[in-house]
Amino acid sequence: LQVLANTLSIMRENIESRENDLVYQSQHDNLTGLYNRLAAKQQLSLLLSKMHGSLVMIDIKNFRHLNNIIGFANADDLLVLFASRLESLSPTAQLISRLDGDSFLLLFQPSIPLEKLDNYLRQLTNPFSIQGSKISVNVRVGIVDLSSDYDCNDIDTLIRHAEIALNQARVESLGIATYQQGEDERYLRELMIIRDLPIALAQGQLHLVFQPKVNIQSNHCHGAETLIRWQHPELGFIPPDEFIRLAENSGNISMISDWVLNTTIKQLAQWQLQGISLTVAINLSAHDLTNPQLPLDIEQLLISNHLPINALSIEVTEGAVMKDAQTVIAVLQQFRNIGLAIAIDDFGTGHSSLAYLKLLPVNEVKIDRSFIKDIHTDATDLMIVDSSIRLIKGLNLSVVAEGVESVEGINILRGLNCDIIQGYVYSKPLKADDFIVWFQQFNQSNIQTLSKDTPH
Ligand code: C2E
Ligand code: CA
Ligand code: CA
Repeated sequence: LQVLANTLSIMRENIESRENDLVYQSQHDNLTGLYNRLAAKQQLSLLLSKMHGSLVMIDIKNFRHLNNIIGFANADDLLVLFASRLESLSPTAQLISRLDGDSFLLLFQPSIPLEKLDNYLRQLTNPFSIQGSKISVNVRVGIVDLSSDYDCNDIDTLIRHAEIALNQARVESLGIATYQQGEDERYLRELMIIRDLPIALAQGQLHLVFQPKVNIQSNHCHGAETLIRWQHPELGFIPPDEFIRLAENSGNISMISDWVLNTTIKQLAQWQLQGISLTVAINLSAHDLTNPQLPLDIEQLLISNHLPINALSIEVTEGAVMKDAQTVIAVLQQFRNIGLAIAIDDFGTGHSSLAYLKLLPVNEVKIDRSFIKDIHTDATDLMIVDSSIRLIKGLNLSVVAEGVESVEGINILRGLNCDIIQGYVYSKPLKADDFIVWFQQFNQSNIQTLSKDTPH
């Protein structure tokens, strides 16, 4: 009996210890021994109703890159050292956990003052010694301030708020960012836009509008800029700047550019059948301009639709050129070689406008609306526009003024020798059919005025 009792007791202890091991393993990260994501969420759930202080999410900047440079084994060692430094530096933290990869979550109650956190991060990022080498790391930090006006009652949302703050720190290259009320709505909206864009393109939720470009010296309209519009079934009208920026950041911009290009060509082919010829400008993004195949594809598309090369032109911002100037200039040169006209968009909003302009193979410069809109009341804007026009014309390029809203503006710009105006004063961007009505009427009435003015 004694033997049996001993055996049973040993078995019980073994089971208990195995259970403890399993519980430990399920709650701790194998590598660093810190709490894992699951345990962090459990701990936070227990505290949720009376949580205060600050939730701090930390990630190591460019960790993936570091991984590639020093190798996985060394990167693991680095994470272990980093984790133990986190523990030794934050004796007051209620929770220290590793969510995944290089992302750590800490809870400080009461909250940690910003200068203390600064100091803490400085010590945390002192170089680590790995295999005899000193390895430096930088961190980014997202904070949720759990003060009384912060309201959140589920853990997933809470963690997402910390991630949003961290992301803010990342995109604005700040070291530290704090979650602001309302950012969640924006984040969810942005996710929805990114998610829905491919479906929207496939389902025909997007359409193009055309805004006339009028030559103010000859009073004739030769073409238009095409602009994209999206009416989302739930979100309603989404401004193009918003979803274009998101598509650029999420790597989806070529999907839009392809759609715009194909839709514009189809429209041009249809107009050509009706005997209408004009030049339509499309907007291309930085990413499009690193594709050396694009100029040839566009040329092919024009040829196969029996359109002349000058049926299309392109607009690019200076910022897009600067992202990878060498590659982009080579692609622009190819566009130029096949005979497509190129305009620099939003001129004046970049940094090195003047120096670069002479290097770029462009035909036209569009002065940004911000300089044009108050030209009739603001003497400084007038002077800037005047000298910009002189400079651009000095380089033998044609000048477009964007965003002219008044007749006064037309007269001033004509006096300054500006070539083309695009603005509400002539027309807002219009759907294809409305645009053609406007286009034919405008050019017709100008021919009439011209013939009236011509002496017999
Ligand atoms: P952008 O290329 O500078 O286009 C000109 C913008 O100025 C258009 O805004 C146009 O509606 C607006 N505009 C023109 N005249 C006036 C005026 O007299 N007054 C005022 N207040 N505004 C005027 P929109 O259509 O909202 O487009 C905004 C930006 O979104 C565009 O700026 C362009 O950067 C981007 N975008 C639009 N469509 C496309 C597209 O198909 N592809 C790409 N990559 N970007 C596009
Ligand atoms: Ca444009
Ligand atoms: Ca512009």
